[in-house]
Amino acid sequence: MELLKSDKNKILTHFNEVLKIKKRNLNREFSFDKVANSTINKGYLNGSKIDRIIFYLRSTGCEWSCTKMGGCFMCGHYFGTNMGDTLPKNSFYNQFLSEYNKYDFSKYPMICIYNAGSILNDNEIPREELYRILNVIKRNNDIKRVVLESRPEFINVEVLNQISNILNDKIVEIGIGLETSNDKVREYCINKGFNFKNYLEKVKLIKNYSNIKTLTYVTVKLLFLTIDESIRDVIQTMKDLSGLTDIISLEPISIQKNTLVELLYTNKLYDPPKGWIIKEILANLHNTNLMKNFELRIGGFEFFPIPDLFISNCNKCNKKLYDAIDIYNSTKDVNSILTLSCDCYEEFKKKIYIENNTVSHIPLEERICNSLEYFLYKSL
Ligand code: SF4
Ligand SMILES: [Zn+2]
Repeated sequence: MELLKSDKNKILTHFNEVLKIKKRNLNREFSFDKVANSTINKGYLNGSKIDRIIFYLRSTGCEWSCTKMGGCFMCGHYFGTNMGDTLPKNSFYNQFLSEYNKYDFSKYPMICIYNAGSILNDNEIPREELYRILNVIKRNNDIKRVVLESRPEFINVEVLNQISNILNDKIVEIGIGLETSNDKVREYCINKGFNFKNYLEKVKLIKNYSNIKTLTYVTVKLLFLTIDESIRDVIQTMKDLSGLTDIISLEPISIQKNTLVELLYTNKLYDPPKGWIIKEILANLHNTNLMKNFELRIGGFEFFPIPDLFISNCNKCNKKLYDAIDIYNSTKDVNSILTLSCDCYEEFKKKIYIENNTVSHIPLEERICNSLEYFLYKSL
């Protein structure tokens, strides 16, 4: 285990070097009066199809990404942010308000406000500005649901009381990137920096508030796992979350610039997920009682900066895949996914067979070391 720890640190150091080089070269001349982006996505609310709005605030950046640990392996949000430097006063409020005034919310009952990190972290966005934003939303009767995101360490009674009181006639979802219920996998394959117990404590706290719900992000096709292992990890995680979380969003990994995932992908050491993996997960679960215990969403598309590559199948059937995901997200009709078919499914099954015979017997620690060796060899 000592050997692994030192090797893992070398991988992280390598990752951080990549981050630092990119950081020096990046143009950070952002306007802090304008949101980084806003999009309209399909959604589902109280049994009906809806359109929801996502605001990507131009932000200070995730504090976890700013540490020497470099943040989560798949996450490139950092590069659309001020990388830890404080923003001028009222920037968050001003950018929110100018974007908010562009929309007629009678068409959009749900708003997601993302800050490329934890919106409940006072170091990332001043609390006072967050509460000013929420007070604007409070006065809008068309908005019924608000989605915020945070790591567990910033969720506490004080902030939950405030949110619950300000938005007392709306439902608030707090999205937490748990990614997997397996602590070892979360540490080795994501570099998340918190454990399942930390998450559970905060979910229990959230349960005290009738207008606040837990939304849990679960990653699909983690680094270093085979397709089969990833399917089993997601299913086990969903079982472990049953009765705890109100909503689960499956997040197939996308290729985001300047991340360890991108580095491994470009060196042919990681294959991004095929759409078929979602079909396999749903085929395993759709008839079970488990699915009645939470609302399930399929995410993985809502990021800024926009990833280079998303979950996909082949050029012939990608449109059908994305349409099916949209239909599922706005109707919860699982058949949209289960009836997908294409010749490329056979390649996916073949890949599973090959991985099961060549990779699955190799311990996770060894797979990580093998990737490290590859980079050390390459840099000689
Ligand atoms: S996934 Fe979330 S916690 Fe991890 S680095 Fe990105 S913003 Fe930070
Ligand atoms: Zn296809």
